Amino acid sequence: MIKKVLIANRGEIALRIHRACHEMGIKTVAVHSTADAQAKHVLLADETVCIGPPSATDSYLNIPNIISAAEISGADAIHPGYGFLSENEKFAKIVEDHDIIWIGPKPEHIRIMGDKVEAKRSAGKLGLPLVPGSDGAVKEISEAKKVADEIGYPVIVKAASGGGGRGMKVVPDASQLESLIKQAGSEAKSAFGDDTVYLEKFLGNPRHIEFQIFGDGKGKAVHLGERDCSLQRRHQKVLEEAPSPVITEEERTRMGDICANAMADMGYRGAGTIEFLYEDGGFYFIEMNTRLQVEHPVTEMITGLDLVREQILVAAGQPLSVTQDEVTFTGHAIECRINAEHHKTFAPSPGKVINYHAAGGMHVRVDSGLYSGYSIPPYYDSMVAKLIVYGKNRKKCIMRLRRALEEMVIEGVDTTLPLHQALLDDPEFLEGDYTIKWLEEWLARDQ
Ligand code: ADP
Repeated sequence: MIKKVLIANRGEIALRIHRACHEMGIKTVAVHSTADAQAKHVLLADETVCIGPPSATDSYLNIPNIISAAEISGADAIHPGYGFLSENEKFAKIVEDHDIIWIGPKPEHIRIMGDKVEAKRSAGKLGLPLVPGSDGAVKEISEAKKVADEIGYPVIVKAASGGGGRGMKVVPDASQLESLIKQAGSEAKSAFGDDTVYLEKFLGNPRHIEFQIFGDGKGKAVHLGERDCSLQRRHQKVLEEAPSPVITEEERTRMGDICANAMADMGYRGAGTIEFLYEDGGFYFIEMNTRLQVEHPVTEMITGLDLVREQILVAAGQPLSVTQDEVTFTGHAIECRINAEHHKTFAPSPGKVINYHAAGGMHVRVDSGLYSGYSIPPYYDSMVAKLIVYGKNRKKCIMRLRRALEEMVIEGVDTTLPLHQALLDDPEFLEGDYTIKWLEEWLARDQ
């Protein structure tokens, strides 16, 4: 069994991993940049190693320094969290080449799913329904024109190496196709070093529904139901819920089984998420994430499973702790992502937290590295806390979430707490009547 885990990440997810490790009697090593010396998980970890200056390129993305830290501390496994090196095939391989356990999927699966063109191709072969579009990358404008005419406008140009909503362009009609393909390509080139793009039908008003899956790496896999992540701003998720207010039990079982079977066929190992757009009762695969997701706690709340624990067990070669028949879904959970940003302008607001108080009480969970006196560094992601609440049903969950939001105190910096409070009062949100476009329209209305 694993005895010491190096946590190659920061912020709330580093703390989340530390907590799972200590609950399993596993020691932790926190690697951190100079800017994070006072981070909560660094203060709590059994050992700490400073791996570089604030810039992520020199610290959290610095492979030689992270591997050295693992060797010096004698860590026998590395958990990459999300973001940073979590979906970096090269890093996963280097870790394994150093005889350190990689708490993540097999490197080849990270590679396949990291290239969206290849991911779509494999997903199609594995029997997942796809968004109509180009068969692979588009290289020639003439070819793109032909595909776009066939599937019909609007179409969306997407970067094969894209992520975080970058490198995507919606093309309303044929006259703009060429210039937008070029723009998407050059944006992708500067962001990801790869200008490969592909085309997809632009779905007008879908929901974003994703299935959590788990594989043992040996041909067994289960699904843990879906999450609805339709509330997005600039393609970034803001609030997530499980189960989705619109997915039926029949749809959950049917699509969940398709996903789990696909992962079993692949021999997938560890946690993964298969993302779909959902429109008019149809599911359309868009991508697969080969890591733990930010929003994993809503799945934990309704299944009672600890996904980080499960990741560690599978990485250590143990079987999944549940079979599909043993997975049960109870109640409803919602997560609010709380960013250190102004709730209307979304201007980042790093700095000193003068006063911090986390909400508490029954079925309320706060995953956050904040504490009174902590300074939020300006160098990284602005998400500083996740408030996750469970209720017997969606209505009760929302009532509890309102109460929990009232209790949260984060003073000294701007946060998006008021945005979440306003959302919970909106009649359409209360009805569960929203799609991926809804939040941006709602925000525009509010200005
Ligand atoms: P990324 O990896 O950059 O997050 P995704 O492929 O997951 O990119 O897409 C992110 C978001 O972009 C989706 O949740 C959805 O809001 C929007 N999107 C992606 N593809 C389409 C499409 N074909 N039609 C409409 N919206 C899309």
